Amino acid sequence: MTEQLYRADAYLRDCAANVLAVNERGGIVLDRTVFYASAGGQPGDKGALEIEGGGVCPIATTVYDADRATIVHVALEGSALPSAGQAVRAVLDWDTRAKLMRMHTCLHLLCALVKFPVTGGQVGVEEGRLDFDIEDASAVDKDRLTADLNALVAANHPVGERWITDAELEANPGLVRTMAVKPPMGSGRVRLVVIGEGGAIDLQPCGGTHVKGTGEIGRVAVTRIEKKGKLNRRIRVAFA
Ligand SMILES: [Zn+2]
Repeated sequence: MTEQLYRADAYLRDCAANVLAVNERGGIVLDRTVFYASAGGQPGDKGALEIEGGGVCPIATTVYDADRATIVHVALEGSALPSAGQAVRAVLDWDTRAKLMRMHTCLHLLCALVKFPVTGGQVGVEEGRLDFDIEDASAVDKDRLTADLNALVAANHPVGERWITDAELEANPGLVRTMAVKPPMGSGRVRLVVIGEGGAIDLQPCGGTHVKGTGEIGRVAVTRIEKKGKLNRRIRVAFA
């Protein structure tokens, strides 16, 4: 299991690590990492591994191995790979990650404003989207949502976290807003994201990376509300 340093501090931009294994497809496993592995609609991180003694291995993306605990850094095709046992410095493409953190946190605000079940979502660098089960489309308005999102951003609500046990989550199924994304259970405990005092704005299981205050998101705009099937409405948000 890879030690996931971003879980404790999403603002870490690099770390020293040792290469545990390298597979034939350019997948590199480290003992610890600041790279977020693709999950829950947030893409895996890009960046580079600076190899001790010289050489840089660019990382195109980061994914979980089949065990959902080991993180695999996927080297850009054709790159010179480090070897097992080598020391490296894992360095994030921070510009990209910072935008993903801002957009990911913004989608929590959208989820808090639109009180319908979430059926899917995707976080991007310029744009993010959430799909909701909404029967009556008049329940959501683009301009109204944009104003409400920006009010939550301007208020700079604190964003924190709290850990609960799997049993506590099972006893409180109302905490789970997203049907499409199973909460990261199995390790015995689950991390909740807490937005606003005591989770007044949002409180739900999430393993992603967030900014520390909603003010860091910056101004945003709901760009489109699309009909995707009888019940499904897709709401797109972009940085303004
Ligand atoms: Zn989250």
